[in-house]
Amino acid sequence: MELNIVCIPGDGIGPEIVAEAKKVLNKVASKYGHVMNFKDILMGGASIDVHGVPLTDEAIAQAKAADAVLMGSIGGDTNTSPWYKLPPQNRPEAGLLKIRKALNLFANLRPAYLYEELAAACPLKEEISKAGFDMLIMRELTGGLYFGERKTVEENGVRKAIDTLTYDENEIRRIAIKGFEIARKRRHKVTSVDKANVLDSSRLWRAVVNEVAKDYPDVELEHMLVDNCAMQLVKDPAQFDVILTENMFGDILSDEASMVTGSIGMLSSASLNDTKFGLYEPSHGSAPDIAGKDIANPIATVLSAAMMLRYTFDLDKEADAIENAVKQVLKDGYRTGDIMSEGCVKVGCRQMGDLLAERI
Ligand code: NAD
Repeated sequence: MELNIVCIPGDGIGPEIVAEAKKVLNKVASKYGHVMNFKDILMGGASIDVHGVPLTDEAIAQAKAADAVLMGSIGGDTNTSPWYKLPPQNRPEAGLLKIRKALNLFANLRPAYLYEELAAACPLKEEISKAGFDMLIMRELTGGLYFGERKTVEENGVRKAIDTLTYDENEIRRIAIKGFEIARKRRHKVTSVDKANVLDSSRLWRAVVNEVAKDYPDVELEHMLVDNCAMQLVKDPAQFDVILTENMFGDILSDEASMVTGSIGMLSSASLNDTKFGLYEPSHGSAPDIAGKDIANPIATVLSAAMMLRYTFDLDKEADAIENAVKQVLKDGYRTGDIMSEGCVKVGCRQMGDLLAERI
């Protein structure tokens, strides 16, 4: 298969971690007989330095023409970098918002997986964490409260702020379909999270999810209220497979789920549209404090590349090979500084990439 991948190395540790992900992908290509064509584009601070804007129209066109985008991270030190003296629409993060909009990326996926070898970093009690967990939060990314009409008014000398939470059935249906499709690639279970005891938007959410579920009789569906879900994530995270939810609930729950893994350098993510196209990136930022030192953990980016193989290219065997390589490297006792523990061998970013590629 020929894979056309646009890479956004970005800023900070971005170029270092993307280089390691490419190394691992190249090994996958040679082992499984694929051709991977990589093309780098500039975004964030790197683009500001060259073009004066965080993302050019030409870069967007190149991203659109690719099958998928693999990104490192963008942004600098928000206190000291000159990028943050620019007007908001010219700062690095504006590039990210622009590309998400241009590519219509409405579904955000964040897996939270507890590696046995890293269980000590999990903040949950051992009696809970020993069961392990392997879940994926699917969050609607372009609707709901964050995109509704908002205003602040003053009535009779009292200030009043109004935000609106709106969803139409088409927005709900397209993300529900993604959720069920992805559950089919996993353990065939969807937990749809809402606040249907209070909100109309949640009642519509629940009704549309039930309609979509009829086309997926092989996938188990349960509904859960968001307050209960927040509790269940720390009480019994092993129960979850795919958590399907709207924008604000997903924002909060995905951070909670990430935190229970305890390891920021291990968390991948994907943003998808209604084709097979996706933008894949680690959940962490550009870590300017450790940039250029060859100490960043490339695993979140490497795992994002595995998600790309699975969800854009349907190369499940190849994605499994990457995920198994990560497990094996941890089992063999190699760690970057952020996940280091006693008795393990500390390695840098490049060496971690080499070790992963060797295990493909
Ligand atoms: P951060 O995630 O970059 O860093 C938080 C801490 O985690 C730092 O101590 C960092 O050294 C460490 N860390 C992060 N990733 C690591 C890795 N792979 N290996 C080892 N250690 C790692 O968050 P921040 O410091 O709040 O943000 C820094 C910059 O990143 C800001 O400009 C922010 O806007 C940007 N950012 C970008 C994205 C994105 O591109 N999607 C996401 C979040 C933050």
